[in-house]
Amino acid sequence: MNCGVIVRDEFAERYLLGDLSPAEQEAYEQHYFECARCFAELRRLQAVRDVLRADPPALPAPKKETVRNPWWGWAAAGAVAVSLVAVVLLRQSGAPEPMAGLPRAAAPTGPTSSPGADPAGVPAVAGTVDPPLASAPPAPAASPESRRVEVLARLARAEPPRYSPSVLRGAADEATVSFKEGMKGYVAGDYGAAIPSLRQAAHLDPERPDIAFFLAASELLAGNTASAIGEFERTIAMGDTPFLEEAHFYLAKAYLAQGEVDRARAELTTVQSLRGERLSEAGELLAQLDSAGSE
Ligand SMILES: [Zn+2]
Repeated sequence: MNCGVIVRDEFAERYLLGDLSPAEQEAYEQHYFECARCFAELRRLQAVRDVLRADPPALPAPKKETVRNPWWGWAAAGAVAVSLVAVVLLRQSGAPEPMAGLPRAAAPTGPTSSPGADPAGVPAVAGTVDPPLASAPPAPAASPESRRVEVLARLARAEPPRYSPSVLRGAADEATVSFKEGMKGYVAGDYGAAIPSLRQAAHLDPERPDIAFFLAASELLAGNTASAIGEFERTIAMGDTPFLEEAHFYLAKAYLAQGEVDRARAELTTVQSLRGERLSEAGELLAQLDSAGSE
């Protein structure tokens, strides 16, 4: 099983429709656990499907034959959105329509339009690799997917890094004033409130690893994962600071929160190589990722 086969044979779509054989399903699950790209694709497709189910759109009149583009998965983002919606529309509406004949303008433009159907009575679609579907709706194979999400969410959970305020000598500079202000919110557990002051502090003094690190941690704990990743990377780029190990460790957590298992593993391996306080915790996380991956 590899990404190419998964795209070519539309594994994600068939998975969500419950169309895969048990062996295919297992192989696919094993793959997407390790592959951020395929997992992201699956989640995107599932999200589209969920939206379509919740909010039926008006459909163009059914025509005939369907020729689908098997490369929808990796196409440019806009095209992906349109073709995913179209594919799911076709599947769920029971209205096979040539992909090429589906006018862009008439295609649903986003998550607000869709067919309402549940998958009951979905016809076998000519010209695809999918086996014909029975008249009963297939049970969605969602449980392994949600299990993976659960496992990753559990492993991504992060305790706030400890903050021990240092005693100030002399007058604090502006960056320090902003930093202290932000850290009041941080120690109170109000990370959203901490962020503006910490961003200000980081802007005033971009060289301070403590500011970069606690800004990153606040972003992570506030759920701003992408910003957190950027700030942890900035902390790491400052080199051998007291925050280096912690930054790698929490960067791994941020990657887990995004489902990027390979990157998380790489960070945890780096943590291990630093042989600091997080050594055993990093090893445990890696072991848990291994056992979750072989489920
Ligand atoms: Zn893949």
